[in-house]
Amino acid sequence: MSRIHVSLEQLRRYNVPGPRYTSYPPATHFQTEFEVSSFKFQDPPSPPRPLSLYFHLPFCSTQCLYCGCTNIVTGDRKKSAEYLAYLDRETALRATGVPEGSETLQVQLGGGTPTFLQPDEIIELGGLIRRFSPLAGNIEAGAEIDPRSLTQEKTDALRAAGFNRASLGVQDTNPLVQKAVSRIQPLELIAGANQMLRNSGIDSINFDLIYGLPHQTVERFDRTLDEVLTLSPDRFAVYSYAHIPWIKPFQKSFEEHLPDAEMKMQLLQLIIEKLTGAGYVYIGMDHFAKPEDGMAKALANGTLQRNFQGYSTHKGVDLHGFGMSAISHVNGCYFQNEKELESYYAALDRNTPPVFRGYQMTAEDKIRYAAIMHIMCNLYIDYAQLSEEIGLDFAAHFKAEIASLDDLEADGLVQRETAGLHVTPLGRLFIRIIAMRFDAYLQNEQRKGRYSQTV
Ligand code: SF4
Repeated sequence: MSRIHVSLEQLRRYNVPGPRYTSYPPATHFQTEFEVSSFKFQDPPSPPRPLSLYFHLPFCSTQCLYCGCTNIVTGDRKKSAEYLAYLDRETALRATGVPEGSETLQVQLGGGTPTFLQPDEIIELGGLIRRFSPLAGNIEAGAEIDPRSLTQEKTDALRAAGFNRASLGVQDTNPLVQKAVSRIQPLELIAGANQMLRNSGIDSINFDLIYGLPHQTVERFDRTLDEVLTLSPDRFAVYSYAHIPWIKPFQKSFEEHLPDAEMKMQLLQLIIEKLTGAGYVYIGMDHFAKPEDGMAKALANGTLQRNFQGYSTHKGVDLHGFGMSAISHVNGCYFQNEKELESYYAALDRNTPPVFRGYQMTAEDKIRYAAIMHIMCNLYIDYAQLSEEIGLDFAAHFKAEIASLDDLEADGLVQRETAGLHVTPLGRLFIRIIAMRFDAYLQNEQRKGRYSQTV
């Protein structure tokens, strides 16, 4: 795909609150009175399922001041050994409900800081993953990496444990920005981590960047992009900084240096134009990938999927999340683990699933989930094909929603035909806006002001 041009006026017009559609309905609809006993994955016994596993590793050595993650800052290295023992219990408990013969296609380590683990603990985690389920030959196994805590021994351990992908937390290379957010990692350190990963045979490297951080300007971030492009990562995930000081009070420390809404728009415009100009394919919702990368290929061949880790390259998998706060999606059922370490441990000590809330999708949810996933991932809805998939006449069921797209079509975001609905290259930038038209829960939620801006 060639360079995408986007006007500030368009960015302004479509910057409205909306869900990120990592689930449908969004996690705000999960219920705490959810019956833990209701997730019998094999009732009745089902054929083998493709699996995607997520492990939340919450520990960090220091606190980055922009962070909104569920994490625990500690200098106590022994904590991770205890945590791994609980992960082992949780996977053993969950494995009893996974259909015989199922294989793991994807693994992702997130956090927190997965590289808080020592090399021997990374190897131990690899063993635990294999005990849960056999790994597919073409597995995609990735880990979020903090360049400050990566060593050659840890990189080698990740490879030995079967990991073949990495996501480096880069955010911004500007020293002033790094100081304000208390995450000092000069470009040389990032380049060194990138090289270690390449040397050990990690074959897909993503860089996470954040726009909207204190002291960022177009000129400074342009330089950051120039610098990171010299390292030629396979993918970029570029996130909008979420300012939530009522939940994370430490974010107040740099409040007066935050760019205003207009500057954020200019930063986003810069990112889109610069990365697509450098040859990256805009996947949608913050993600860019080289044309030869698996994510760009999955977009092209219609196998892209969206889940709690963002976009993924396998469709129709059961997602099992492990560790405190992790979310799972199995058999039309969402459930989230306890968000506090103590309650997570306490549930496993009782030999019960450490779940605090969940949601069983209704038939209508599943239909709308399919429609939203087709829009977010395939950028096209073939009415006949989707009608077959969901077992009803799509165009008739969504008559009002399709009719409501007049304004988006006039603005060049979608194109409607008798047989289907296309998202245009411009529409890809505002994909949430299009998906939101198929969301039955939204009107109520928007009134409550629950969602972040779509840009
Ligand atoms: S950004 Fe990552 S390393 Fe920093 S505090 Fe958050 S989870 Fe920890």
